[in-house]
Amino acid sequence: MSILDPTISIVIPIHNEEEVLPEFLDKQLLPELDEIKDYKTEVIFVDDGSTDKSVSILQKYTDKSKKFKLISLSRNFGKEAALSAGLKYASGTAVITIDADGQQPPSLIPEFIKKWEAGAEIVTGVRDHFTKHGFVQKTGSKLFYWALRKMGNRHTVPGSTDFRLIDRIVVDEFNHLSEHNRITRGLIDWLGFKQEYIKYTYGARLAGKPSYNLSKLFHLAVDSFISMSTTPLVIFGYIGAIITIFSFLLGMFVIIQQYILGDPLHLYWNGAVQMTIFITFLVGLVLISQAITALYISHIHAETQGRPLYIVDKKSSRNLKV
Ligand code: UDP
Ligand code: MG
Repeated sequence: MSILDPTISIVIPIHNEEEVLPEFLDKQLLPELDEIKDYKTEVIFVDDGSTDKSVSILQKYTDKSKKFKLISLSRNFGKEAALSAGLKYASGTAVITIDADGQQPPSLIPEFIKKWEAGAEIVTGVRDHFTKHGFVQKTGSKLFYWALRKMGNRHTVPGSTDFRLIDRIVVDEFNHLSEHNRITRGLIDWLGFKQEYIKYTYGARLAGKPSYNLSKLFHLAVDSFISMSTTPLVIFGYIGAIITIFSFLLGMFVIIQQYILGDPLHLYWNGAVQMTIFITFLVGLVLISQAITALYISHIHAETQGRPLYIVDKKSSRNLKV
């Protein structure tokens, strides 16, 4: 290890978790941190606009020791923003992000660190699906990852969660990303680097209710598609192209069969049928031109995201001035 005093930062996004915080911290997280003696540790709480007693509970910890840090956001910005804030302020050689509700077992932290010591730059917790709450959510989340992969985001492994360890190199790159509409998971996968996975069973909440209801999850899913892939746009262009080609051929068939050859097949296709074919042809053209417009917009969208064109892995590059 090149850095003399390696620190592990634990980043925890928190939104109204007064019921679970004491148990999660005292019984689950802190005993684990005592186990990893080779490293200094810091715990960064990101209060994402909690309106219950979460903040005063957290302040009790920050009063006790400097290793606890609290970032208090001015209002509820959502978990994705809270995670980004935590990653910005974390100073560790590696940063672990974990939920406060006990669904992601801190007992796995030593295992994450082992994989990191062995060379992984990102270690991602992969949840086994079958413990997800209800049938709708279970099926929804399966569909979500299936579609995400089908739609071009091949980096994301199904069941990946925000329970992760991220090396400093990756954190620095992540902090450079400036897009607003962000899905932390998707972005970190997009960055690349050496990634390892750890399977875990997604437990039940210690207490309280998840803040992500079905409609929020749906929005998150739609955001993921839109921010990570342009395939949905292109699909409509293809449909339009198929319709146009098909109705063009049908139109040619009518002209040749009926008007040039004098209807030898005795189809007697009247004006209404011909009009339908013509309108279908136009619908195809409209779909194609809409897809082209959408692609322009997606390019503008990509430019405004301002993502870097590529990311250099400084650790394995050689003889570069960086
Ligand atoms: N969370 C947050 N801001 C929000 C919603 C949630 O910081 O707007 C935190 C929450 O306190 C928890 C984690 O993000 O630590 C995961 O949230 P939750 O358990 O509600 O979601 P799920 O388990 O369904 O992913
Ligand atoms: Mg949860």
